[in-house]
Amino acid sequence: MPYLEIRKLEKKYKDFGLSASFGVEEGEFLCIIGPSGSGKSTLLSLIAGLDTPDGGSIILDGKDITKEKIQNRGIGMVFQDFTLFPSMNVEKNIQFGMKEKGKDRKKISDALLALVGLEGYGKRSVSSLSGGEAQRVQLARALAAEPRILLLDEPLSALDAPLRKSIRNSIRAIHDSLGITMLYVTHDREEAFSISDSIMIMHDGKTVAMGTAEELYNHPKDLFTAFFTGEGTALPAHLVFENTDGSMFFRPEHAVISEEPVNPTMYPMHIILNDAEIVSAEFTGSGYMLGLDYQGYPILASSATKPRRKTVSLMILKESILILE
Ligand code: ADP
Repeated sequence: MPYLEIRKLEKKYKDFGLSASFGVEEGEFLCIIGPSGSGKSTLLSLIAGLDTPDGGSIILDGKDITKEKIQNRGIGMVFQDFTLFPSMNVEKNIQFGMKEKGKDRKKISDALLALVGLEGYGKRSVSSLSGGEAQRVQLARALAAEPRILLLDEPLSALDAPLRKSIRNSIRAIHDSLGITMLYVTHDREEAFSISDSIMIMHDGKTVAMGTAEELYNHPKDLFTAFFTGEGTALPAHLVFENTDGSMFFRPEHAVISEEPVNPTMYPMHIILNDAEIVSAEFTGSGYMLGLDYQGYPILASSATKPRRKTVSLMILKESILILE
């Protein structure tokens, strides 16, 4: 049985319905990604106990906590908005939810400050902190309560890119040193790819896919997951055995560009698309992302060099093509 088990959890709002079932192993770092409005925050609120579900259950470490009070769940939270108490200094903020009493409190808050990279910040006022420092203090405060699970809802989205990268790496390092189970909501695919053990994708209140970044990118089971985990091309395909229509999907790096026309009979392992017109060539640093038009269908292909011709041929290894619905 997983450490955290979400069983048919339901929540209805006027125009929105959440329905989620999944499990998280102890010590796992799960990133939850999905478009805005897909239900990521609603899901975290239900797990934390900030909101009440309409149905289903939340099992933590074998115990049903669906109706448990927030303070008895053993769940810590870090949110995007800086929610530190402005009237308390950094140390007092961290000690706020601590179970420990007596003089050890200071020792623990100092250790937590060191853990989040803010050694010596204990006496600083909250208003003197930068956005990144405030998020680190929030993290230390959440950890001070010794939660069994830590929920993080877009904790870094208000910060600029370089700072986001450095703090997300600290969060992952803290996860690894404490072995604490973390559920981390982000809209940033690259962030999820870089720090997660596994990723769950949400769409329209449903959990549509779950797996490692590699599994979801290389073997998506549906078009939504395919496009949400990276760029690609979907061309209509008729599935002969099923007698239904589907799509053949491939990533830009799987389409090889040839500036000369290609004879398909010479390449039985490939699908050949001749006479694809280059519509755009975007420089990506490592090469070019080409936007092509093939008989009215848009195609994306990456190329190390910028083609000199306006029309090129594409060779796609059949093995790298996915048939999706
Ligand atoms: P996400 O975090 O993926 O952006 P949310 O969980 O915040 O999505 O929201 C999902 C949907 O639920 C949205 O359509 C939002 O408007 C709606 N919603 C969230 N909270 C409430 C609420 N308290 N009352 C009514 N609708 C809500």
